[in-house]
Amino acid sequence: AKAEAKGRWRRYRPDLDTSSVERIQMRAELEQALPGGRFELDYQPIVRLSDMVTVGFEALLRWNHPVRGRLMPGSFIDIAEDTGVIVAIGNWALATAAATAASWPATADGRPPYVSVNVSARQFRTAGFAAHVEHTLAETELPADRLLLEITETLLLRDDEQVWHDLAELRRLGVRVAIDDFGTGYSALNYLRHTALDVLKLDRVFTSSITTSRHQADLVAGIVSLAHKMDLDAVAEGVESPEELDLLRRAGCQYGQGYLFARPMSTRRTHQWLTGTISA
Ligand code: C2E
Ligand code: CA
Ligand code: CA
Ligand code: CA
Repeated sequence: AKAEAKGRWRRYRPDLDTSSVERIQMRAELEQALPGGRFELDYQPIVRLSDMVTVGFEALLRWNHPVRGRLMPGSFIDIAEDTGVIVAIGNWALATAAATAASWPATADGRPPYVSVNVSARQFRTAGFAAHVEHTLAETELPADRLLLEITETLLLRDDEQVWHDLAELRRLGVRVAIDDFGTGYSALNYLRHTALDVLKLDRVFTSSITTSRHQADLVAGIVSLAHKMDLDAVAEGVESPEELDLLRRAGCQYGQGYLFARPMSTRRTHQWLTGTISA
């Protein structure tokens, strides 16, 4: 009966069949992409809202697919997670981003910006992750305090001893840790009390809603104030308009990232950006 139901379902929904074939094909292609040198990182500036100085860059993965062209992570990250190849890709991204960051010149602050790297839960949970990060920093000669690792709530929800242990170990090295997409997941505020976190990245939904009502603006101000009380810096994601910037400043948010300041850019352009040869 199950086979029959499946057969019927297939006959009536050929579109779903196609997409699963595509996923299977993409799994195979993803395995080849890393040895084939098909991944690239773009970097998006993170600015201090008071004076617009670029304090950091977030490294964002792109896949130069031989047929489909340049793919954004939204179209392949979940498949890479499923197969586990995200671990190798993530380690490549970490090493590449650290090497790039080590070559950045100082800004108006007198020091070079930090690099912020996305780490998937699966990658973080691999044995010896903290030691791997330490090794990468040594290899690339990037000072630990210029690396920020972005993790998501899902990693912290299980309240796994090993995870807290590794976070403490990274902390000891001087690496900073950000909680990414804050406010989109389960928002179990409980984990914020852990002192192993340094930065709270406020999801784009808050930034885009801040202009819609006084209530929304108050909500953002509340989250920012909570972050500061917990000794976390707050970075607003997806800042697209001057109105959003203005309201974020009023809400006490100190840092931002978004198309208003700059889109993600190539390594070469980060150098031009930092030396003032280009602007937004
Ligand atoms: P994310 O970590 O939330 O990264 C921010 C996303 O917002 C990026 O999308 C960025 O291009 C986009 N963005 C930045 N400013 C604006 C804006 O003003 N408006 C709008 N609408 N969007 C903006 P992107 O590059 O497509 O990356 C999507 C997601 O893929 C990331 O979301 C992150 O979760 C994941 N990702 C990217 N690189 C890596 C990586 O190396 N490893 C892992 N595990 N995940 C990655
Ligand atoms: Ca991120
Ligand atoms: Ca985010
Ligand atoms: Ca995200």
